[in-house]
Amino acid sequence: MSVTDSIHVDGEWRSAAAGGTREILDPADATVLAVVAEGDAADTDAAVAAARRAFDAGPWPLTPVAERAELLRRVAELLQRDREEIALLESRDAGKTLEEGRVDVDDVTSAFRYFADLVSNSAGRVVDAGSPDVHSVVVHEPVGVCAMITPWNFPLLQASWKVAPALAAGNTFVLKPSEITPLSTLHMVKLLVEAGLPPGVANLVTGPGDPVGARLSAHPDVDLVSFTGGLVSGVKVAQAAAPTVKKVALELGGKNPNVVFADACATEQGFDTAVDQALNAAFIHSGQVCSAGARLIVEESVRDRFVAELAARAQRIRLGRGTEKDVECGPLVSAQQLAKTEAYVASALDEGAVLRCGGERPEPSGVRPADGYFYAPTVLDHCHRGMKVVREETFGPILTVETFADEDEAVALANDTEYGLAGAVFSADTARARRVASRLRHGTVWINDFHPYLPQAEWGGFGKSGTGRELGPHGLAEYQETKHVYENLRPEPVRWFAG
Ligand code: NAD
Repeated sequence: MSVTDSIHVDGEWRSAAAGGTREILDPADATVLAVVAEGDAADTDAAVAAARRAFDAGPWPLTPVAERAELLRRVAELLQRDREEIALLESRDAGKTLEEGRVDVDDVTSAFRYFADLVSNSAGRVVDAGSPDVHSVVVHEPVGVCAMITPWNFPLLQASWKVAPALAAGNTFVLKPSEITPLSTLHMVKLLVEAGLPPGVANLVTGPGDPVGARLSAHPDVDLVSFTGGLVSGVKVAQAAAPTVKKVALELGGKNPNVVFADACATEQGFDTAVDQALNAAFIHSGQVCSAGARLIVEESVRDRFVAELAARAQRIRLGRGTEKDVECGPLVSAQQLAKTEAYVASALDEGAVLRCGGERPEPSGVRPADGYFYAPTVLDHCHRGMKVVREETFGPILTVETFADEDEAVALANDTEYGLAGAVFSADTARARRVASRLRHGTVWINDFHPYLPQAEWGGFGKSGTGRELGPHGLAEYQETKHVYENLRPEPVRWFAG
C-alpha cells in the first residue's frame, strides 16, 4: 500500500522528515486502511515555524472578518459536497456506523456555519471613559499560533470545534489528530486548501502524542494549545505548556450520571422513553463518547423492571461493521480499547457487580469479522461508588447501575466523581427535574433527554473534565486576545511632576 503524504506544512503535503510511517487499521477486521506519515519533533518544528511565519506576516490575521466568514461558509459547502465520502472514511477509521458518520459531518458543517455567523456579528465595544475627550474601545484579536490536539472517538467533530473558531478569529494553527484515526482530518485540511486558505495558515502533523503533541505543548512559538483527550494526557499537556505560559484549553473525560426517578417511569410511554434514552446514553458508538451516560442512577423502587428491560434491549443491539446495512453499533476502535474494556468488566465482577447482559465478545457473523474489536453492550447491576468501574472512565460499552432512595442521595451519587462533563435527569415532575439539574456539578445537564448539544451553547467540563469551553461565544473567545485601546483626543501635559 502506498504511503500517504499526510503532513501539511506551508501549503505542501509531505512525508515525515525521518521517513517514519504508520499503518491505519480498520477496527472492524484489523486490516490496513491506509499508511500515513509518522511525524516527529522535526516535522512539528517545521509546522510551527510555518504557522508562525504565516501569522506574523499576515495576511490571514489581517483579512477582513467578512472574508474569513466567507471562507468558513465555503468549507461548510465543501463538507456537504463530500458528505458521503467523509462519513465513509470516519466509519472505516473510527468504527462508527455510516449514519453516525453522516451526523458527524452535518454537525461539523454546523460548527463552521455557526462560527462564520458569530464572528460576523461580534464587534468590539466602546467603553465610557467618563470624558468626551477620550475614545476607549475593547477589541478582540487573534491569539497567534494555535496547537490543536484531538482524540480518536470523534476525529473530525473535535477538530472542527477548534479549527472553525480559530480561523474565524484570524489565527494560524498546527493540528495533530489522533495517531490512530487521522483520515477524516486530512480530508478536512484538503477542503480548507480548496476553499482558498493561504499557505501556512492550516498545518497538520500526523504522529504520536509523544513527541508530536508533547512538542506542540512545550513549543515557545505556540501561543495557545487546545487539547481534547484523556485526563492523563491532558495533565501532561498542561505541565509541558506551563513554562511558556501559553493559553491552555483542556476538554477531558467524563463519568457521566443518568439519574432516573420512578415518576419518569409511571406511564408506559415514560418508561419506554427513559429506557430507550438510557440505552442511547450508554451504548452509542460503543460507549466511546466523552459524555456517555455510563452511570445509571435509578430510583430503587423501579430498578428491577428498568434494568430487566434495559438488558433485554441491550442484547438486541445489532453489532457489526459500521458500513453494513442495519448495523446499529460498530467495533471498539482498537485492540487496546478492547483489552481495557475486558479488564474493567473483570474488575467489576471481582468487586461484586452482577452481570445482566454482555460481558463478552460476541460471536463472529457475516457482518462481524472474527478479527474485529467487537464487545457486547454490558449492563452491570448492584454497583457502588467504591468500585473502579464506577469511578474511572471506561470509554467502552459498559453501563453500571446504582440506586437511590431520595433526591438528596440521587444528587450525591451523580456528583460523586472527579469529573464533571455531562449528566441527565429523567423525571415527570418539572420542579424536581429543574431542582436536581441545578444541583448537578456538570458542564452540560439534560432534562428528559441525553446527548444533544448545540453549536450555540458552550460545551466543556467542571472539575477534572477540563478547563475552558468549546462552541458558543465562549468557544470563539478561547481563540481571541482582548485588547483595550484608550485614545486621548485632546492630549496635553498631565503635570504629575512639577519639573
Ligand atoms: P488520549 O489522551 O490518549 O489522546 C488524545 C490526543 O492526545 C491524541 O492525539 C494523542 O496522540 C495526544 N497525546 C497523547 N499523549 C500526549 C502528550 N503527552 N502530549 C500531547 N498530546 C498527547 O485520548 P484518546 O484515547 O484519543 O481519546 C479519548 C479521551 O478523550 C477520553 O478520555 C474522552 O473522554 C476524551 N474526550 C473528551 C471530549 C470532550 O469534549 N471533553 C471529547 C472527546 C473525547
